[in-house]
Amino acid sequence: MNQIPRLRFAHLPTPVEPLPRLSATLGGPPLLVKRDDQTGLALGGNKTRKLEFLLAEAVANGARTLITAGAAQSNHCRQTAAAARRYGLDCILVLSGEPQPPSGNLLLDQLLGVEILWTTRQQRDADLQAAFQAAWDAGRRPYLIPYGGSSPAGAAGYVYAMQELLEQGLHPDWIVFASSSGGTHAGLAAGKRLLGYSGQVLGISIDEPQDVLQQRVAELATRTTDLLGQPVTLQPQEILAHAEYLGAGYGIPDTLEKEAMALFARQEGLLLDPVYTGRAAGGMIDLIRQGFFPRGSTVLFWHTGGAPALFADRYRTIVE
Ligand SMILES: *Cc1c(COP(=O)(O)O)cnc(C)c1O
Repeated sequence: MNQIPRLRFAHLPTPVEPLPRLSATLGGPPLLVKRDDQTGLALGGNKTRKLEFLLAEAVANGARTLITAGAAQSNHCRQTAAAARRYGLDCILVLSGEPQPPSGNLLLDQLLGVEILWTTRQQRDADLQAAFQAAWDAGRRPYLIPYGGSSPAGAAGYVYAMQELLEQGLHPDWIVFASSSGGTHAGLAAGKRLLGYSGQVLGISIDEPQDVLQQRVAELATRTTDLLGQPVTLQPQEILAHAEYLGAGYGIPDTLEKEAMALFARQEGLLLDPVYTGRAAGGMIDLIRQGFFPRGSTVLFWHTGGAPALFADRYRTIVE
């Protein structure tokens, strides 16, 4: 693969741990967890790996301000804010929702002292462009990080993550994780193709129908292999995605998420989050109960972080 610019601040390699008590409770396949909730950078998560490449691109472009967008409880925005501070950059976050008292990720954004602009989900892209233009006109040298950090450079972080897993001597039959803006999914799918991983890369959709997610991930994975100098085309049909667990929508946890969060906490002392990993683990547990994973297979749950949202006011009733 081409060497592409990278700054090093993630705590890597992240550990892989067995989940013996959870596996026994579910009576399913042996389960492992890859701890990307422990990547460092203001409480960690999957965005750290992406940001190593995104920050390198920003710095190489002479950026002085990072701009990105997300939900009020966005982990991506919190980690982007921390990365900006670490490299002495300004940061503007365009958050969809109502201005609200700080809690969870939003509290950390404010602690990091970055600028916050409020928008609606419908206006988000227009307001992001407007914020970029205003910063440009003011001479602040803005660098736009797309939603979720899911550009080819960001997704490259998960190609290298796949390489890291293989170098740890691990070759699970299935890798299961939360998929939303698609960068994690695209990186792992591209990594599978480029590095010859023969297991399956299965994303649990957080907020998109299956065909939309497959299309997005295939396109991003294809562009990522191009960036890495080993162009291959990934087709939407070869992207594995389950979209049966969307519930009442993004950021609205229900029984599925609550049960998964309680099981991981009470069987393994592991914290999931209400938006992403709770939903993905809930989907994985449902698939185990359905007998989806063939007998004798090993399943690795790739933990993508998100626990700061546990301390958001809106999730105060998550524990039953
Ligand atoms: C952003 C995020 C995801 C989704 O990753 P994508 O690369 O955007 O698909 C999953 N889990 C957590 C905790 C996240 O913050």
